[in-house]
Amino acid sequence: MNAWTDLGGGIFVRQSRAFRMNSVALLAREHAVLVDPGVLPSELDDIAARVRDANPAQVTLFITHAHWDHVLGRSWWPAAGVIAHDRFPADLERTMAWVHEEAETIASKHGESWPRRFESFRPTERVAGLHFRRIGPWRAVFRDAFGHSASQLSLHLPEARVLIAADMLSDIEIPMLETQPPVYRATLEALRPLFEGGAIETLVPGHGTIARGVDAAGDRFRRDLAYLETLERETRRLHAGGASLADAQARLSTVADVERHPHHPMREIHLENIQHAYKGIDAASRPHR
Ligand SMILES: [Zn+2]
Repeated sequence: MNAWTDLGGGIFVRQSRAFRMNSVALLAREHAVLVDPGVLPSELDDIAARVRDANPAQVTLFITHAHWDHVLGRSWWPAAGVIAHDRFPADLERTMAWVHEEAETIASKHGESWPRRFESFRPTERVAGLHFRRIGPWRAVFRDAFGHSASQLSLHLPEARVLIAADMLSDIEIPMLETQPPVYRATLEALRPLFEGGAIETLVPGHGTIARGVDAAGDRFRRDLAYLETLERETRRLHAGGASLADAQARLSTVADVERHPHHPMREIHLENIQHAYKGIDAASRPHR
């Protein structure tokens, strides 16, 4: 199977064997931008070979968020500039033990080993909020994308009408929350004008299949939003009826559209999502002192 998808205009996507994670390479002679290059050592070698062929004058990495599967490529391009969220350094520092553990596990699972130990790194450029940026010939729009990770950014390429969604809008994973659902929902709502205005013809999720066409991209958006709305509404209903967290998890374990792909079970994630929803509702329902 060819791991590469050519989206045209110098935009290439490479899918990893690990968790079907997508790396994106924007290749131009003037400047190459690599989004979340990874995951396995052999795959990073493959991306590096593709970049060498393109022979760009400059390389910049963009890391969508500080989770382990998105950060491992840094040591293949130690001299490159790195763009990441303002909160990225703190988030990465906090999770370094997890990064090392998962990096070892995934490499040995695929019979590979790391040529060097992953070292923590700091972005050369930190962005937050809504940020427009020219990187060589590439026009990029970065947006805060909280809910899955406090250091997450999405990347919109308005000219190519491509959205690189980080860990959102996947066809194989439900939203994975690290905090209460309204935070994640606000991230999606901020993208609504893009989906409804036809600004996204190609959607590249962090994991899973690329959605092609305005309708397919919009379907992803509506599906994740519907999941979050159901999660919140049903958790709120049960909480109001006096259900405990464990009750809510038991009652909502089979709520529709949790499992999206047979090889990517989401049950544990869904239970954690219920917990985030429940805790958010519970905290809001207590009187302030
Ligand atoms: Zn992630």
